[in-house]
Amino acid sequence: MILHIPHSSKVIPEDLRYQFVLTDDDLTVELLRITDTFTDELFALPEATILRFPISRLLVDVERFRDDAEEPMSKKGMGMIYTLTANGKKLKRTLQLQEKDILISQYYDTHHQALLTEVKIELEKYGKALIVDCHSFPSHPLPCDEDQTIPRPEFCIGTDSFHTPEALSQTTVLSLKKMGYSVQMNQPYKGTLVPMALHGKDGRVASIMIEINRSLYMDEMTGAKTSKFDSTKKQIQTLLRSIKQFQQQGQPGVVFT
Ligand SMILES: [Zn+2]
Repeated sequence: MILHIPHSSKVIPEDLRYQFVLTDDDLTVELLRITDTFTDELFALPEATILRFPISRLLVDVERFRDDAEEPMSKKGMGMIYTLTANGKKLKRTLQLQEKDILISQYYDTHHQALLTEVKIELEKYGKALIVDCHSFPSHPLPCDEDQTIPRPEFCIGTDSFHTPEALSQTTVLSLKKMGYSVQMNQPYKGTLVPMALHGKDGRVASIMIEINRSLYMDEMTGAKTSKFDSTKKQIQTLLRSIKQFQQQGQPGVVFT
């Protein structure tokens, strides 16, 4: 099982800070808004392979399509390389082609290559692979969010019509409901990540997205952990272990090929 953690980092390397037009204070606020804070701790199951993107999504977002024409969020200035804040304000100065190329080759492509390599290792070892795409979301919609419905669920499960076996999404939803959480499928966020080279082609690659409502573990105004953090982390670890076991055993009548 590969735990993909794309949005937990708040790191802006010193030599890339100049790309932003925001003051330090405004940048801190934007990072708090947009980062899936603490997901690297919440989803860190020791017995899984963990692939964490090391810098902030504000620099380059590995969950967006490489081509803006394919990426719906690019219309909101939030394609692979964001130009606007979540509130629609100017985020960066205009980047030169060369500056974009550095972000893409050093970070975006390197990360996607690493993911593809991990998937291939699993395929070789086990004849199948499972990616869990690990995120969190604000309890109130951001202005840039397509789905503005409130209240939001405690968990959102994202699926792909080709790469998410129904039994996998069902067992995930059921496990969360048994823990007493409210769950929605593909609402307010949809989809799950699969390496582009294998997307829609290799049915041995399964993928599911798990998004947790930030109000379950942090104070969204200050960015601090709440007293519920440890118990929430335990529940996520239990969930991940049950998904891993499910994947290993398969399920009678469920084909993971
Ligand atoms: Zn995310």
